[in-house]
Amino acid sequence: MGLLDAGFSRDNVLVAPVDAVLNWARLSSLWPMGFGLACCAIEMMATNASNYDLERFGIFPRSSPRQSDLMIVAGTVTMKMAERVVRLYEQMPEPRYVLSMGSCSNCGGPYWEHGYHVLKGVDRVIPVDVFVPGCPPRPEALIGGLMKIQELIRMEQIGMSREEALRKLAENAVEPRPLIEQERSAAGA
Ligand code: SF4
Repeated sequence: MGLLDAGFSRDNVLVAPVDAVLNWARLSSLWPMGFGLACCAIEMMATNASNYDLERFGIFPRSSPRQSDLMIVAGTVTMKMAERVVRLYEQMPEPRYVLSMGSCSNCGGPYWEHGYHVLKGVDRVIPVDVFVPGCPPRPEALIGGLMKIQELIRMEQIGMSREEALRKLAENAVEPRPLIEQERSAAGA
């Protein structure tokens, strides 16, 4: 900090790519739409509360789709609600992102076989960027999914399609097993 303080106390010029500055601003102010569909939404609310404190990432819920750039689909998407989910998605401005939270939203969850009233995956009606597994996923898992959305935004460039950015993100994916093994052997476990 001392170095930065000294650096900024005089007139200065910072040089950075426009993409990097825009992406940094966007990923540091993700505004999810404040809505939930079932029990996963309770876990999402817990993630927003003081223990996990999503605001430290610049993430806090907005009450209007027109001011939101992220939709967290948290809970069971019934056929009745699917129509509303699509309408809310269409009211969000671009660039917009979708995180599917929990088994119900990912694939129908416990209702996948006999739930005649449940959509078997919200990606059947809107495009999903990140799926978070679990029933319900723990706050740490949701935070992990949100960090994936942030990584995706970091990969984007002006003129680059979402598909290309997702491909780039997949190419940069870290294989977790060697890391876990490394940590285990470092801890002597
Ligand atoms: S995935 Fe589990 S916790 Fe989440 S909405 Fe479905 S039943 Fe509820």
